[in-house]
Amino acid sequence: MTDWQGKNVTVAGLGVSGVPAAKVLSGLGAKVTVVDDGDDERARTQAAELEALGVAVRLGDGDTLPDGTELIVTAPGWRPDKPLFLAAGRAGVPVWGDVELAWRLRGRDGREAAPWLAVTGTNGKTTTVRMLASVLEAAGLRTAAVGNIGVSLLDAVLGEEQYDVLAVELSSYQLHWAPSVRAHSAAVLNLAPDHLDWHGSMEAYAADKGRVYEGNRVACVYNAADKATEDLVREADVVEGCRAVGFTLGTPAPSQLGVVDGILVDRAFVENRHRNAQELAEISDIGASAALQPFGEGAPGARSVAPHNVANALAAAALARAYGVPAKAVRDGLRAFTPDAHRIAHVADVDGVAYVDDSKATNTHAAQASLASYESIVWIAGGLAKGATFDELVAKAAKRLRGVVLIGADRALIRDALARHAPEVPVVDLDRTDTGAMLQAVQEARRLARPGDTVLLAPACASMDMFANYIKRGEAFARAVSELGA
Ligand code: ADP
Repeated sequence: MTDWQGKNVTVAGLGVSGVPAAKVLSGLGAKVTVVDDGDDERARTQAAELEALGVAVRLGDGDTLPDGTELIVTAPGWRPDKPLFLAAGRAGVPVWGDVELAWRLRGRDGREAAPWLAVTGTNGKTTTVRMLASVLEAAGLRTAAVGNIGVSLLDAVLGEEQYDVLAVELSSYQLHWAPSVRAHSAAVLNLAPDHLDWHGSMEAYAADKGRVYEGNRVACVYNAADKATEDLVREADVVEGCRAVGFTLGTPAPSQLGVVDGILVDRAFVENRHRNAQELAEISDIGASAALQPFGEGAPGARSVAPHNVANALAAAALARAYGVPAKAVRDGLRAFTPDAHRIAHVADVDGVAYVDDSKATNTHAAQASLASYESIVWIAGGLAKGATFDELVAKAAKRLRGVVLIGADRALIRDALARHAPEVPVVDLDRTDTGAMLQAVQEARRLARPGDTVLLAPACASMDMFANYIKRGEAFARAVSELGA
């Protein structure tokens, strides 16, 4: 669809993706109607802003398909079983997300369209995309970390700045609504049950993640320790010559990246044809810049790079190498990389105990990776379980637990799993969800901890029962830790 003049487009949902999409479409000459279920103060302010630009807005009814709609552009979070989309299906109206819109609009104005290196997976997306962007930058490429990570793809594609290549984080929702996106190369980091209520089943969730591989040109990067990701590569329809490239924390097979004696090694993209492997960087290079407390120096529990972050670094390296980045830039980029906050962030040492904030561990798969990163842990956990079960997580972590402090609405689920799989581990069950609960949780954790231990906030749950989001939860933890020393 290249001619937007007079096209009837319905934008589903105001907000971070809908408002910019409506503005862009209206600027292209489309006749835009925005529909939204909400009708509050914020929605009305956004509506007024759009109406001033000639966009029609219907508040309080996100389910009726406006007459004459030729295309829907939806916010990624809107569920596919919503009546609006069922009506669109019956009427044969296509539905795109904002990522699809960005893909279709790239290269307008005769500009060169930057290829996409795409990353998805249940956990590790943001970290991997940051690492990838850092490596691409170290190679002297004009790049940005975009997509689900916060910077809109529409901005990246249509803004002033010209990029050589984009490091794109895509969520399963975004992929669901992005049928024609074709990445240069893509990685699925891992697959574990999450957002199943939205997708309907694990199969549907996996299929949406697998879309990231469709039409890849150079490499489909998979996790050799997670067979489901390799299966998705096998099922994908790719450009001839596109390679399946695995990453592993062990010794790499040919066509894989892996680790040998603490060194990240590439056996997929070897520069010197007389060798069968290319050394890229040492594990200790990952986040080695001075700014990088959490992964590096300082705390008894935080001295080594967490294994899941080695995996993320290998995935980032695989994508960069698929794009032709030399080994030295991989090392420089991994050294310069800084993680986003609340992801295995070392907050402080108090009395020989390290306090680590992994508030972003909002599901059991993430918390499992987090707990596997430390030897002796006082674990602060709990919140909204989102339908998860905790037996596997607790059984795997049992040996490492010095003690557990439980907070939040669904803590009984974790308490029961602990009783089944770790009956000897002391548990403090905090029966409160007010804002002071985190301070008490940290004080209880301190009582349980011994020198050399790590107090780890890795809740395995969403935060919304007690906090606005995981960021506020992590901040409350850091504040509570700072009060320990006082
Ligand atoms: P996402 O963007 O997918 O949510 P992040 O990079 O923000 O991923 O990390 C979220 C959390 O997931 C981290 O705080 C950590 O607990 C966990 N995590 C990160 N990388 C991985 C991985 N490769 N495998 C499992 N868990 C991970």
